[in-house]
Amino acid sequence: ATLPQDDLLDGLDPEQRAAVTAPLGPLCVLAGAGTGKTRTVTRRIAHLISAGHVSSGQVLAVTFTSRAAGEMRTRLRELSASGAADPTAGLVQARTFHAASMRQLRYFWPRVMGEMPWQLLDRKFPVVRQAAQRSRATTDPESVRDFAAEIEWAKASLIAPEDYPAVVAGLDRQIPAPPEVVAAVYENYESIKSGGETMYLDFDDLLLFTAGALEDNAVVAEEFRDRYRCFLVDEYQDVTPLQQRVLDAWLGGRDDLTVVGDANQTIYSFTGASPRHLLDFTRTYTDATLVRLVRDYRSTPQVVELANTVIGQASGRIAGMRLELIGQRPPGPAPQFTEFDDEPAEAKDVARRIGSLLASGTPASEIAILFRINAQSEVYEQALTDAGIPFQVRGGEGFFQRSEIVQAMSALRAAAERDDLPEDAPLPTLVRAILAPLGRTPQPPTGQQARAKWESLVALERLAEEIQGLGEPLNLVTLVRELQSRASSRQPPVVDGVTLASLHAAKGLEWDAVFLVGITEGTLPISHALGERGSGGLPEAIEEERRLFYVGITRARVHLAISWALSRSEGGRRSRKPSRFLDTVLPQQRATTAAKKRPARSVKVPEMDEGLFAALKDWRLETAKEQGVPAFVVFTDATLSAIAAERPGSESELVALPGIGPAKLERYG
Ligand code: ATP
Ligand code: MG
Repeated sequence: ATLPQDDLLDGLDPEQRAAVTAPLGPLCVLAGAGTGKTRTVTRRIAHLISAGHVSSGQVLAVTFTSRAAGEMRTRLRELSASGAADPTAGLVQARTFHAASMRQLRYFWPRVMGEMPWQLLDRKFPVVRQAAQRSRATTDPESVRDFAAEIEWAKASLIAPEDYPAVVAGLDRQIPAPPEVVAAVYENYESIKSGGETMYLDFDDLLLFTAGALEDNAVVAEEFRDRYRCFLVDEYQDVTPLQQRVLDAWLGGRDDLTVVGDANQTIYSFTGASPRHLLDFTRTYTDATLVRLVRDYRSTPQVVELANTVIGQASGRIAGMRLELIGQRPPGPAPQFTEFDDEPAEAKDVARRIGSLLASGTPASEIAILFRINAQSEVYEQALTDAGIPFQVRGGEGFFQRSEIVQAMSALRAAAERDDLPEDAPLPTLVRAILAPLGRTPQPPTGQQARAKWESLVALERLAEEIQGLGEPLNLVTLVRELQSRASSRQPPVVDGVTLASLHAAKGLEWDAVFLVGITEGTLPISHALGERGSGGLPEAIEEERRLFYVGITRARVHLAISWALSRSEGGRRSRKPSRFLDTVLPQQRATTAAKKRPARSVKVPEMDEGLFAALKDWRLETAKEQGVPAFVVFTDATLSAIAAERPGSESELVALPGIGPAKLERYG
């Protein structure tokens, strides 16, 4: 029976159709955020199957996260169920590189490695610590984490232990110890893993062994190539050399490969990923079909314009790849930019605005708060809990479930139970001393993971300080009790709540409303991208941070709110500056808002009458909400005294109403 091919091409523009229907063979879709790359890959799979070019079992689709893989399978099942695609399209394997490799390795292992039993190494730190010990390197927790991260990078970059010193000598790279020491730890780590009766494989080994099996064993390779013949990769800009090697081994010289990506969304360079393979695709496969998409179907023109502005400032290698996105959706509200005095105020206001979105019918699952580092999530988890708004934390546990926080809590509990400590030292000093062995060093460590844990511990310390500032003087016992009650009063994560996620974990996803929070120098761009004081930052690291900002902006369909706070804690020193990425955006934003809306910004209220205060209040909230500018209220002296007489203190009440910035009360006449 001929299948209704037309249905599969429904809702695709001409370029997307060209990509979907391109013949088997190398195909590259190079396009910006929200242009339908993922939709195109999914439809292409369905099309290739429905048109009889391949069977569903011959297709292997690779995506970046297991969630993305799951989503692709869901979309394929939907296409099958609706009758638009062949019923078998829903059976296609869509996996991450790791999941696909693990499955293949399980199957091929006996033929490649014989009787040797193997096991996945899911806790690698003890092995790295042992390796560091053998290499006479430092073995404190943060060094161990840094070594582990560096080994991961080296493996993903296909750098063997013996080559490591020579390779890093040619790179401008922060490394946790002298190159020879790292190389020794790396080498020992490998030999400890494979030295016992059971062979331990870490995540990178899954890929290395898969590639090795296909490269070295002709029988295995032949069987594999009989089985799979069509490969598709989403988010190809973030492929590592190791993943590329697996892909090459899968292909074994064949070229039925579809890749889609956006070089401007390269955000995993620190793991060894590089957009080189995407950008060189048409050079590698000279007969490749190249399709570019420029229509943005995800976001309102206002969001698209902001995204274009931000990525338009990019410099360096990828800048040449700039593609202007053209928004296709009807206009929506202007992106909001809001500055707060401190982080708790920022979080509280975000929760308040989410409350109004929910009240006006936006489902919680269509709202996300995105941040740069996981440690930022704590204050938002608290604010949402206080506001009774359900949430889920994506790509990580909630703050109190993180392993370093679980450890820190039990260390604090243990210390509280010993009575030789709760007496002389001030509480913050005590807390810091207890957290020190867990990785709360005075200075942040260099490795990404170690730093993330460090930031979490600092966030816990901050929370302790905040609790202490709230009321009666505390001792360690009561502090721990309060922390525990906070931990347990947190709402349990729910599946369709508001999403809290890091920018990295938000890749490829979309929401109706997105709150990008904490957009300050030192957070986005992150502190370690800033380099020496006054240096302007490390250029490549700054560019990656800019791309992260771009990824964040382009997650929003309609509502986009960008905010930052000048100080960390309530009443704290205003030591933070808005992110440099706002420099070009903010003046523009302010100018357009002011030009468009100026006439409506002030209102003269000649007389005081019944309900005036309520009316003013509504007007003030409306103006602030609509225009994103401070609202001015101009009174006659008589009115002002009337208000003051009727509602003592109402002047300051009006001024302090939440909204964008404070209102100004002025007299006239
Ligand atoms: P990212 O770079 O963020 O991964 P993407 O290019 O993969 O984005 P998709 O997620 O495939 O983009 O699509 C973005 C949104 O636009 C989705 O909601 C998708 O359903 C919708 N979309 C894609 N193409 C079209 C189209 N031709 N008509 C209408 N909507 C479309
Ligand atoms: Mg996508």
